Amino acid sequence: MKISKYNIIFDYKEKKFAFNSMTCALALASDAFLKIIKEIEMDTFNKVPRTKIHQDLIEDMKKGGFIVDDCFDELNFLRFKNLQGKFQTNHFSMSIAPTYTCNFDCPYCYEKTRVEFMNQEVMDGICREVKNAARNKNKIDIAWYGGEPLLAKDTIWSLSEKFMSYVECYGADYSAQIITNGYLMDADAIENFLKYKISRVQVTLDGPAKVHDARRKLKNSSKPTFNVIIKNIKKALDAGIGVAIRVNIDKNNEHCTDELLDILLENELQKAYVYLGHVKPSTDYCKSISDTCLSKEDYALKFADFEKTLIKKGFNFQYYPNYPMPKSNYCSADSINSKVIAPDGSVYKCWHDISNPDMCIGNIVNLAGANSKSIMTQVGYILFNPFVVDKCRKCNVLPLCMGGCPTISNKVTCQNSKYSLIETLKIKCDVLLGVGACSDNAAEEKRETTRLCFLVDPVTTHDVAVDQAAGCPDYSASCGSPKLWWRL
Ligand code: SF4
Ligand code: SF4
Repeated sequence: MKISKYNIIFDYKEKKFAFNSMTCALALASDAFLKIIKEIEMDTFNKVPRTKIHQDLIEDMKKGGFIVDDCFDELNFLRFKNLQGKFQTNHFSMSIAPTYTCNFDCPYCYEKTRVEFMNQEVMDGICREVKNAARNKNKIDIAWYGGEPLLAKDTIWSLSEKFMSYVECYGADYSAQIITNGYLMDADAIENFLKYKISRVQVTLDGPAKVHDARRKLKNSSKPTFNVIIKNIKKALDAGIGVAIRVNIDKNNEHCTDELLDILLENELQKAYVYLGHVKPSTDYCKSISDTCLSKEDYALKFADFEKTLIKKGFNFQYYPNYPMPKSNYCSADSINSKVIAPDGSVYKCWHDISNPDMCIGNIVNLAGANSKSIMTQVGYILFNPFVVDKCRKCNVLPLCMGGCPTISNKVTCQNSKYSLIETLKIKCDVLLGVGACSDNAAEEKRETTRLCFLVDPVTTHDVAVDQAAGCPDYSASCGSPKLWWRL
């Protein structure tokens, strides 16, 4: 028997807890648990006579992934899951920017906005791909983004109408989300979301009205945007659409998130999933904002604090904290069945690359026409491999991160959540111990000596990571976030 490389054991409120990043099990680490770990470390495990109680505990520790059989090579297993995620063929995801145009002028925008809409030839190319996917895949996931996608709503409705007919004809599963600034999300748009199965909406609020309106400004207008967006979020929630509210923070607005939460409560928006976004100078276009950005570590701690506040203020506590889940690959860029489509039909792997011709992998109008350079760009993303990076091979959260955002250069970027993991786990302990799990002391005592007291059950190793990441976790709540909010 071996100790898992992915155990994280921590003290909290005079107890010891154990988390395993391969299975994401969270358990109370009893004295008996710690003794078994010690015996394995000291190589005395096989010399100690086992009672039935010990056997049960050992079984539970194996189930939680805290100890593994000698023959089980965890790193190789993760590599297998990584390849399985990258090359699985039962899930197709497409992120579509129907326009680059935007009605807002945000200082941290990573896209150079320009007026450009899709023509019929591009729309036909997209339809060919989605029809083909519907014929062959079990699940199709579409993400609308931009620019501001609702400036091209006729394109969205028209393409969605076609997509619906393909999935109906071939029996594929279909889901769709939209990333919008929310300003144009009126009753008509919401009616069409319902009609075209756009069941998840992500909008951005950067603070209370005064702060938000100074950052999320309309282009060529001084009209405020905050109150319009709040009203639109309410309409969407009332219509049964899942709404994620992203709050982009940097040094300028990190102090006003509590005030924003109070406003959301006053407007009865606690059904929304609220989360923080890290403002970063992602492209040359927005590099002037570097000085105001928070470091990864500062951002991660702010994220954990924010989740505590959400719980304290009575937001839907089952969403929070944003509990880690294992992943096979990081995003749509490093998997074979994902594409990002620009308004001119250019195809990319990464949400950030859109409008960068150097990273284009072809055009949807004629995918067969890809040249050597574009093929290599695609191959570079898909073969992104954290297992060749020493730091990742040794990292105890590799199953949660898989090397982070797969830049083409095999340069790894640790996920922000790495820096707030222990805080997140502590919040989870508080939430679970507060609502009854293991809260009965007598029962807890008994379980500690017989079975392992799991606060979060392990994901079985067979299930781990087969749910492929779609889209960009940096920009969309669909990745790396609780799956719960999608189920509204
Ligand atoms: S995480 Fe986002 S930015 Fe990074 S490669 Fe993937 S899609 Fe691109
Ligand atoms: S990128 Fe960082 S957090 Fe992710 S696996 Fe590698 S070392 Fe770990």
